[in-house]
Amino acid sequence: MEYEPVIGIEIHARINSKTKMFCRCSNNIFNEKPNSHVCGICMGHPGMLPATNQEAVKKGIKAALALGCTINEFSKFDRKSYFYPDLPKGFQISQYDKPISEHGKVVITLPDSTSKTIGITRLHLEDDAGKLTHTAGGTLVDFNRSGTPLMEIVSEPDMRSVEEASLYARQIQKIVRYVDASDADMEKGQLRFDINVSLRPKGQKEFGVRSETKNLNSFRSLEKALEYEIKRQTEILESGGKVVQETRGWDDNKEVTVSQRGKEEAADYRYFPEPDIPPLVATKEMIEELKKEIPELAHAKADRYQSELSLPADHAHQLSGNAALADYFEKALAVSGEPKKTANWILSELMAVEKDITHSKLSPENLGKLIKLIEDGAISGKIAKDIFQEVYEGDLDPEKVVEEKGLKVMSDTGELEKVCLGVIGKNPQIVADFKGGKEKAIGGLVGQVMAATKGSADPKMVNEILRKLLS
Ligand code: ADP
Ligand code: MG
Ligand code: ZN
Repeated sequence: MEYEPVIGIEIHARINSKTKMFCRCSNNIFNEKPNSHVCGICMGHPGMLPATNQEAVKKGIKAALALGCTINEFSKFDRKSYFYPDLPKGFQISQYDKPISEHGKVVITLPDSTSKTIGITRLHLEDDAGKLTHTAGGTLVDFNRSGTPLMEIVSEPDMRSVEEASLYARQIQKIVRYVDASDADMEKGQLRFDINVSLRPKGQKEFGVRSETKNLNSFRSLEKALEYEIKRQTEILESGGKVVQETRGWDDNKEVTVSQRGKEEAADYRYFPEPDIPPLVATKEMIEELKKEIPELAHAKADRYQSELSLPADHAHQLSGNAALADYFEKALAVSGEPKKTANWILSELMAVEKDITHSKLSPENLGKLIKLIEDGAISGKIAKDIFQEVYEGDLDPEKVVEEKGLKVMSDTGELEKVCLGVIGKNPQIVADFKGGKEKAIGGLVGQVMAATKGSADPKMVNEILRKLLS
């Protein structure tokens, strides 16, 4: 029998606010000395009072808006009970039945350029736990991460392949970065995935029993774990067995998922409203203000680049996929006025030398000017490529470079005629050959005029002038 995978993903993204979710400790914890960013609140001391971080809430709302979610004007926090040594409170502060936002969607573009919409069930806010490090001498605990702000983004079970799941996860990373809600740097543990996978016979409507594999922290492990789970469940079903609903972990070295525990139900967590934190109220005005801060998103940009600027789909997606690159393109375009050439120059010439577009050596204005010079016919594309490296290295004004080097196309026919006459005078033999019927001899004269003008003349024009002078 042929089976179809059904995949839903829960993504934890660290909000990049200055401080933690419910205390004033710094949220900048990467590579910091263990337990150097802690206080009574995030260490779970009894009797401490948490206070909600407004900046983190606003960033969460911005991400939710960018994901097309409806913002709930009233939401609240709940305690979700766990017992772990790195969770000194004995519970996580999360949002259960009244999350800050729900019902969003994300569009992914498949390699064949078709799009698919993946539903977002909810985005809610919560705090993170600390971190355990197991050593030969015992287990160490670092509470720097404890209380750092997270948004959990839960998808609908809408994905049907590893590829779709991977594109979805990448799209979420892009979107939370676009609105500056999270740096979403996986190497710093700022983005983590839980994958829910089930199989069903092709054509069947009901979903099968799922497993959940937690805490994948790279796109590679996300893909590998999905492949592994699909294969594992296929083998179980094909041999007549039943998939058990359970929580699994990922062994990155062996590249296998391993059973950790039976699936816990909501009741196991003993959810109840967090009594120390007032409900979250997001006013209509606040939501409207935040909406204004959201930049045009990658997908909308890609559509616009194609419809308004007539860029080919691949260029439109390449440019819009990275906010800094899109910004660079739009600034250069404002000067050059020529979308296709500008896209080409950025994606070929510039990308070949520039590794960090955010701090590009060459300003978009100067690149725009260079393209405009070609567009206006002041220099040829070849000259532009010749001087590109120099313009790039020094962020030079290409107009000045062209001026100083005398590289402008000699569109002044009087000027060109003079050069042509000079070349004719110096080459009686070639002239005689040409006049004697050797058509090809004129090439020699054109070449010398081009050399004399340092390539700045239009060879076609030179050819015409020479023929006129020699007739
Ligand atoms: P929990 O919070 O208990 O893990 P949820 O019902 O909130 O469970 O679902 C978590 C994730 O599992 C969601 O992303 C959802 O889309 C996905 N999911 C639910 N049912 C299935 C299924 N049968 N197969 C695959 N994914 C599923
Ligand atoms: Mg879950
Ligand atoms: Zn603290």
